Amino acid sequence: MSRALIEMDGASKSFGGVKAVNNVTFTIDEGGVIALVGPNGAGKSTTFDLMTGFQKLDSGRRRTMGIDTTRSPSYRFPELGVARTFQKVRLFPSMTVLENALVGGLAKFHSVSAAEGAARRALERLGLDDRADRSPAELTLIDRKRLELARALVPEPTLLLLDEVMTGLTPHEVEDAIMLIRQLVDEGVTVLLVEHLLKVVMRISRRVLVLEHGQLIADGTPDEVQADPQVIEAYIGV
Ligand code: ADP
Ligand code: MG
Repeated sequence: MSRALIEMDGASKSFGGVKAVNNVTFTIDEGGVIALVGPNGAGKSTTFDLMTGFQKLDSGRRRTMGIDTTRSPSYRFPELGVARTFQKVRLFPSMTVLENALVGGLAKFHSVSAAEGAARRALERLGLDDRADRSPAELTLIDRKRLELARALVPEPTLLLLDEVMTGLTPHEVEDAIMLIRQLVDEGVTVLLVEHLLKVVMRISRRVLVLEHGQLIADGTPDEVQADPQVIEAYIGV
């Protein structure tokens, strides 16, 4: 078994009476693409929040790169090699595109100029370098998503969590996104993907975790989870 990047042990989170994530245990081991899928409201984004310190665990424990991070705040995670995007894009409207990307590197690089170099490379990779000095408000939604992804890449993460980055993309843009994910994997990045496009998920993932009503109902290869009666039921709702 390869190195464990994140270990969630009995993770739970409720909002009011809703158990968004209910006693979930899994380990994300190093390498390739892993997907987290499930119907709307299953708890996927909340699971990402719990994995990256954006929400506090109600109960359970978390280890990141072998270190107990159960109580660590979100700003610690880029230094540990974990970066993410948000389903609802979070950018700073009063900062430029370049500055928004650069923020991703401040915890990792010890000078602003080193962070700026990394930010410019990430913007170039996402095709945004010509708009470095613009305001994010001038970008289309897709380009704002690209900017978030650029920001996540700036600290050169070991593990990258992507929350529905392909939603709203044209088929051609989806293929571009798949190509970028494959390049990142070739560079040694482990990619954890929340994605609604199940065909894409099954094509590029080596392992698929399935959430339903906050609980992990399946965890296996694409072939295994697609043949799982509980997964079929969760998706068809019969
Ligand atoms: P998914 O990403 O799988 O669609 P979410 O993790 O966003 O699901 O949501 C899981 C459940 O938790 C849903 O019922 C949602 O309404 C609820 N929820 C998520 N975040 C919050 C929040 N900040 N406040 C209240 N309820 C929330
Ligand atoms: Mg979500």
